[in-house]
Amino acid sequence: MRILLVEDEMNMAAALTATLSRHNIVVDHVRTLEFAEEACRSGLHDAVILDRKLPDGDGLSLIPVLRREQAGLPIIVLSALGTLDHRVAGLDHGADDYLAKPFSTDELVARLRAVMRRPARIEESTISIGLLRFNLTARYAELAGKPLDLTRRELLALELLVRRSGRTVPRSALEEAVYGYDDEIASNSLDAHISRLRRKLSGAGVEIHGIRGLGYLLRAAQ
Ligand code: CA
Repeated sequence: MRILLVEDEMNMAAALTATLSRHNIVVDHVRTLEFAEEACRSGLHDAVILDRKLPDGDGLSLIPVLRREQAGLPIIVLSALGTLDHRVAGLDHGADDYLAKPFSTDELVARLRAVMRRPARIEESTISIGLLRFNLTARYAELAGKPLDLTRRELLALELLVRRSGRTVPRSALEEAVYGYDDEIASNSLDAHISRLRRKLSGAGVEIHGIRGLGYLLRAAQ
């Protein structure tokens, strides 16, 4: 899962990013409405966590903008404006959920899972290629019915390759899927993840081809 966090308090953003990362959630953090709108255009995010009091306006004004970019995008508002009226205003603006600060991070993660589980958002759950089965809802991979042991980054790379199987996935898209905006990316580390993935997938009837200068392509072995 990859989420967009719109939050101008740096301490809050850092703490949330650390917590969510421990739950295998990749966090892209932006501080303003303007950057949030831009980040959302990438279409990479599964959900948005949105603060209200931002340097360039009320986070609620962003909800219709985000929904125009991506209709079913789950949005949770996280705000110090926590009275009943504030919460009702948030839900009226189309937020899926509204959590008042201070909040427990466990509760936030639970609510994030809940908004992602809602029927409208359930996607095709499993993709099979060769002996590999990737469950997109629960986010795990199996090989011939046995769980495949993957690191978080291997899982994120494999997820994107599987979702776009048969097509070349640009290197930049893979790097964006595997690393948050703030992570340092060593120039060869993506290749290292891919080569470990290839080893783990050996015998699965799945090939990952490197397309020089472009990216990678996953498909059933010929
Ligand atoms: Ca704020």
